[in-house]
Amino acid sequence: MKHITIVGGGLVGSLLAVFMAKRGHTVHVFERRPDPRKTDVYAGRSINLVVSHRGWTALRAAGVEEAVQRIVVPVYARMTHDRDGKLTRLPYSIDERAIHSVSRGELNKVLLTEAEKLPNVTLHFDHRCTGVDLDTATCSFHDEVEGDNIAVRADVVLGADGAPSAVRQEMMKGRFNFSQSFIEHDYKEVAFPPNPDGTPQMDPNCLHIWPRRQFMMMGLANTDGGFTGTLFMPHEGEYSFGTIKDEQDLMRFFQAHFKDAIPMLPDLAEQYFRNPQSNLAIIRCAPWTHKDKVALVGDSAHAIVPFYGEGMNSGYEDCKVLNDLLNEHGDDDWGTVLDAYGKARKPNGDAIADLSLRNFVEMRDLVADPRFILRKKIEGRLQQRHPDKWLPLYSQVKFSDIPYVDAWNEGLRHDRIMEEVLAMPGVEERWDSEEVERKALELL
Ligand SMILES: Cc1cc2nc3c(=O)[nH]c(=O)nc-3n(C[C@H](O)[C@H](O)[C@H](O)COP(=O)(O)OP(=O)(O)OC[C@H]3O[C@@H](n4cnc5c(N)ncnc54)[C@H](O)[C@@H]3O)c2cc1C
Repeated sequence: MKHITIVGGGLVGSLLAVFMAKRGHTVHVFERRPDPRKTDVYAGRSINLVVSHRGWTALRAAGVEEAVQRIVVPVYARMTHDRDGKLTRLPYSIDERAIHSVSRGELNKVLLTEAEKLPNVTLHFDHRCTGVDLDTATCSFHDEVEGDNIAVRADVVLGADGAPSAVRQEMMKGRFNFSQSFIEHDYKEVAFPPNPDGTPQMDPNCLHIWPRRQFMMMGLANTDGGFTGTLFMPHEGEYSFGTIKDEQDLMRFFQAHFKDAIPMLPDLAEQYFRNPQSNLAIIRCAPWTHKDKVALVGDSAHAIVPFYGEGMNSGYEDCKVLNDLLNEHGDDDWGTVLDAYGKARKPNGDAIADLSLRNFVEMRDLVADPRFILRKKIEGRLQQRHPDKWLPLYSQVKFSDIPYVDAWNEGLRHDRIMEEVLAMPGVEERWDSEEVERKALELL
């Protein structure tokens, strides 16, 4: 059995620790922040995320599904809010399958607790990785409390230290490809409190979207009856964070674009000017591994934009694939395992990055577009009547384990087919006719 160092005890590092320890390895997790179960490292920010099918597949494989199920809210549909406050509900799938909203902080705490239950896991908080000797799997850490520096030698180092990854920084000193691109949109969170009696102000089983083309807001339920709202807007320009300088600008902007949200956000201005504005970037890199010694897992390997809600889910899938490859090749041949891991995951990391950008356009512009709604209806009918032939792209990504790269290719094929179907004369009136169905199936 091996000594494994996991750098980063966030969402992916904590699950990875469970997987590796259950294989019998000795696991040490080094996390630069304090223990979130003792100090509120998420203080003032109630960020939540969506767990979807692949996330659940990995959580189940690690034996922690039940613990996570206790802290999630099911979400069955998108609910769009137009400028007049009119609501339209669009289910995610014909059979009302759900994705699940969860607080990032709560999920991290649950997984750290699950990891710590295992006798061969040791968690070291307040330890920041400052360097890695890749050939000897030796990491240097700075103890943020005591001020000491230590070196820890292991057999394998797994870098789960997120987008700014120190492990990846070290790999970049060698023959390594790296790109980072910021999108023009930043984001800011605003919390919707529950009603005074603790009930939610909106339907908690929907992901609420205010799509406004150049910008949008979305809201996801928390278990306490509140919602986390996230405002996505360009950094600068006509409709942007840059134009909102004071409370008057803010209220004018909300009156014009998110009027129905105002009564639900009594401390909007206070929150808006207090909460940070964060940027969004896509990181692609290769290779993800170094010999039989080091691998990147999660955002350290593939940071993506959050519009498909798959960043963490794809990181969890990384963990499961690594575990499957260890099952296949054994726990002694890490050279073969890590090589296979990089080859299997890198194309999927690229595909989910592309898919996420695509879904940004869908959420921002298309959910309010009648053509898009028509397409969803036609696809829903096709899926209902021919589930073996037609699985819409969204379902492939969110409700299946189909590799992202295959989903991406199939999605492009669906686009071409639906373009022809939507060009049929009078399709708006006869979208549910045999003829429309036949045309789509012929083109498949
Ligand atoms: C607004 C927003 C919404 C999102 N929504 C979703 C969603 O709905 N669904 C979804 O699946 N994904 C979502 N994501 C993406 C998701 O947050 C990330 O993919 C996920 O957090 C990646 O987990 P990770 O453990 O790889 O990285 P992180 O969560 O960034 O964790 C990395 C950990 O490593 C630690 N660390 C960093 N550097 C060091 C160091 N040098 N030494 C030691 N420790 C270190 C950090 O403190 C942190 O705890 C969203 C992201 C954003 C920004």
